[in-house]
Amino acid sequence: MLNKNYIEVLYNMKEEYVENGYFNEATQTYTFELKLPVTPHTCPRCGTTTQYIKDYRVKTINFGKAHEVITIGKYRQRRYFCKNCHTSFSESNRFVGKYMRTSKSTLTSIFHAVQHTQTYSLIAKQHNLSVTSVIRYFSQVKIAKPTALPSVLGIPCMSLSGLGIGKRAKT
Ligand SMILES: [Zn+2]
Repeated sequence: MLNKNYIEVLYNMKEEYVENGYFNEATQTYTFELKLPVTPHTCPRCGTTTQYIKDYRVKTINFGKAHEVITIGKYRQRRYFCKNCHTSFSESNRFVGKYMRTSKSTLTSIFHAVQHTQTYSLIAKQHNLSVTSVIRYFSQVKIAKPTALPSVLGIPCMSLSGLGIGKRAKT
């Protein structure tokens, strides 16, 4: 069964960031809450460093599937406020991109699966995504300029295939 330690290993996420994990037997879904510590952030507009908190937004993130269990993170994303220029902005994080609802680890796993010539429908099923989403993510990578690639693919991530994720029998 998934637990905090498992989440830490699987998603390269510190255990203390993970709270209140619970498993729903009926939907085979493991949901956990995520919150990062307060750290100094640089205002994207004027460059001033701030730790002043404006508010929080809860973002639901699809972390794909682990051992057939759908994994969902409820990320309580902090928004900081710059007192110098009155700009508010979201805190930086390592596990989900801006405007994204699918985790970076899931995207990495999808790209591994594509390399192993699995079908889009199989990959979608394995990652709790629609086929359309999988195709969209994959096409975004293919058309990305080389300078943009590291931000998409350079994800600090352990080998997911070693844990049995994205490594299913080909059909
Ligand atoms: Zn500012």
